[in-house]
Amino acid sequence: MIPLSVPFLNGNEWKYVKDCLDTGWISSAGSYVNQFEQQVADYAGAKYGIACMNGTVGLHIAQILSGVTANDHVIAPNITFIATLNAIKYTGASPILIDVDPKNWQMDLDLLDAYLRDNTIEKEVDDILYSFHKSTNKRIKAIMPVHVLGNIGDMDRLQDIASSFHLDILEDSTEALGTLYKGKHAGSFGKFGVFSFNGNKIISTGGGGVIVTNNEALAKKAKHLTTQAKTSSMEYLHDEIGYNYRLVNVLAAVGVAQMEEFPTLLENKRKMDRFYRAELTGIGDIEFQSVSSDVDANCWLFTFKTKYMRDLLEYLNENGVQSRPFWVPMNQLDMFKNEIYVSNENHSDKVYNSAISIPSSAGITTTEMETVVKTIKEFYKAL
Ligand SMILES: *Cc1c(COP(=O)(O)O)cnc(C)c1O
Repeated sequence: MIPLSVPFLNGNEWKYVKDCLDTGWISSAGSYVNQFEQQVADYAGAKYGIACMNGTVGLHIAQILSGVTANDHVIAPNITFIATLNAIKYTGASPILIDVDPKNWQMDLDLLDAYLRDNTIEKEVDDILYSFHKSTNKRIKAIMPVHVLGNIGDMDRLQDIASSFHLDILEDSTEALGTLYKGKHAGSFGKFGVFSFNGNKIISTGGGGVIVTNNEALAKKAKHLTTQAKTSSMEYLHDEIGYNYRLVNVLAAVGVAQMEEFPTLLENKRKMDRFYRAELTGIGDIEFQSVSSDVDANCWLFTFKTKYMRDLLEYLNENGVQSRPFWVPMNQLDMFKNEIYVSNENHSDKVYNSAISIPSSAGITTTEMETVVKTIKEFYKAL
């Protein structure tokens, strides 16, 4: 079976993990944590990095530090991995789900802009301006763009909308390490960006995440909150309800080694993307995700649309090519079906019913990609 996406661990991972075991620094203190945080922040063009257990908890911390409360709304795309929405719900806030652009599969910004114009009023609270939803009377505190599949939308436009409506940008850049918009890194456009190092991501620590920000005070608070909000190095004094969200040194050691390999792995992903696009153009009714000329994507997971998605999925998985459908749109899940869903044509559903992801490991070989392409071509020939 050619796997969908597996980690590539051929660098110094073993050496650094062994160092942790040999020295006993396996837990929450240790030099790899700081090193990993700094590497990721430097790479993403941010000043500060805060390591945490996974991307989901990183997104939770970003919500808390943006001041999101149970009386607020947070805007998110209707097509994302569940973690984005879970992070909003952990604060008690209510998501506003925005349909996606049928071409790039990111949040539809025309729709978002029109919706906010028609449905919000500006109000001042304690000398600060906010947008309130006209019918729910809730404040809309933040927006979470998700850089779906490592692609990225029009960030200039998104920043304009966010500033017009006083929204904090909390980037779910979990899939987008290495992605550039007009030469600027995904994760560096908002108050916070969050990266994930889960097993299927472009690089991995098994499980892990890094929150990035340019704001020193917020960075300190993020570190504080993820480490039980302890105020003294000696006494067990804590000044608020904190979280045990830290990343342990053994996993950070894997991360340091993975970051060393990252430029090579990113180049492999981009090569893979070029190969698949060249080989699959004109095959059956295959339609690719469109990537703007402003964007240099990290090409995380190769996904295309076809109306034969269900049959192709079955065919590929039966013939040694591991493939997966796309995420069920958030508005179709029981927990979120009563949330506000902004849509004209429900493109989310159409993307969901036609998108399929094919093997995209950073270490995928040309022979493997040739097999994937050959199997896809066989499927369409037999139609
Ligand atoms: C992977 C992912 C996350 C969560 O990351 P974990 O590290 O698995 O918790 C959040 N959002 C999106 C869009 C993701 O793909």
